[in-house]
Amino acid sequence: MRRAEKARRIMEILDDLYPETPIPLDHTDPFTLLVAVLLSAQTTDKKVNEVTPALFEVAGTPEAMNALEEEQIRHLIREIGLNKAKARHLKKTAHILVHEHDGVVPRTFAELEALPGVGHKTASVVMAQAFGHPAFPVDTHIHRLAARWGLSNGKSVEVTERDLKKLFPEEAWNKLHLQIIFFGREHCKALYHDLETCPICGWAATKKRMREEAEINAARKSRRGVKKVARIS
Ligand code: SF4
Repeated sequence: MRRAEKARRIMEILDDLYPETPIPLDHTDPFTLLVAVLLSAQTTDKKVNEVTPALFEVAGTPEAMNALEEEQIRHLIREIGLNKAKARHLKKTAHILVHEHDGVVPRTFAELEALPGVGHKTASVVMAQAFGHPAFPVDTHIHRLAARWGLSNGKSVEVTERDLKKLFPEEAWNKLHLQIIFFGREHCKALYHDLETCPICGWAATKKRMREEAEINAARKSRRGVKKVARIS
């Protein structure tokens, strides 16, 4: 099957499974979204949503965030991993927003990516979800799935983003990004699973990949079986 045909079918399945795509990170405006996305690196959205209400109560604007000491910010986000670096980035970002952007989150990739701790993926999420600008934020999960589904060769996130943007219509990018994340969270958890039962990999994965995964799973299962026997005996 050609990639374009695959992409069309995947889009139909995802639209069917996830007609609504609520933004997972709680926020009230571009600044609180930017903060939430910054905090979400290497942690769950759930954890971020637990922490941000208290943070936004005292630092819900760039001015208020900038008025805090880095240590105070760190204390407010202490339950989140990498809190030292994230507090430093939040403090510096708030300072730049206040002094260089009149306290307003900028609307361009270049300006967003110039903020501390804001990479292309974070900027893409803000552009898409705060400003409705077409973007295709590719994190490691989307990167991996695009390769598994044969939509990209999986060489780098940059290549994956380029390939996905070519395959899907621009007006669908923002929604697709969330749909793929929702799909991954719901379906791709199990470590050993049968590709043939998956709503997408079942038909989108190449025969070669199906064979390889089946072999890997069989080897893992037999290793676990050996360990179990060893424990029993
Ligand atoms: S086979 Fe597994 S990895 Fe592939 S999409 Fe389905 S659940 Fe995810």
